Amino acid sequence: MAIPNVPPNPAQWKFIWDSPSLPKIDFFCWTLAHNSILTRDNLRRRAMEGPSWCNLCKSEEETADHLFLSCPFASEVWKGVLLLNSDNFELPRNIPNLFQTWSKLSPFGLSKNLHLKNCWLWIPKFICWKLWMERNNRLFKNESCNPTKVIIKVKALLGETLDANSAKKTGKALNREEEL
Ligand SMILES: [Zn+2]
Repeated sequence: MAIPNVPPNPAQWKFIWDSPSLPKIDFFCWTLAHNSILTRDNLRRRAMEGPSWCNLCKSEEETADHLFLSCPFASEVWKGVLLLNSDNFELPRNIPNLFQTWSKLSPFGLSKNLHLKNCWLWIPKFICWKLWMERNNRLFKNESCNPTKVIIKVKALLGETLDANSAKKTGKALNREEEL
């Protein structure tokens, strides 16, 4: 796989692989950290024709940093999941920075509760994944949700993954293939 633009940084790979969530989502984040997902700017770099605008806000150019961080739609989702108001909300400005710094922002750093710690580490992965799903649903299925629905999906995914991890520890069978 081509690795454009992003210099190797152990901190972001460590974040992605040391906080395993679901394999398809971890792999998606790894691809995202390489700036290799097929956002409109990357498609155009590969000489593929098409509109350049973001499907979520329909105003700015779609880049990974825009789609997952600075898009007003994404911003609503981050605020809703983190229960923040607009006055105290400032996300990292780009994807490498997000993955490099997220664990340091944890409010559960000193807690011994592994569930809370894991939950915090999964948040950026799950938000990016659900924003990507929303973008693709709009593009390929002509279906759209508002930010509130995406927030609910992210929280549901957090709850399901926590339950799955607990079930794994207690030996219950898991069905990892189900649609999350
Ligand atoms: Zn946008």
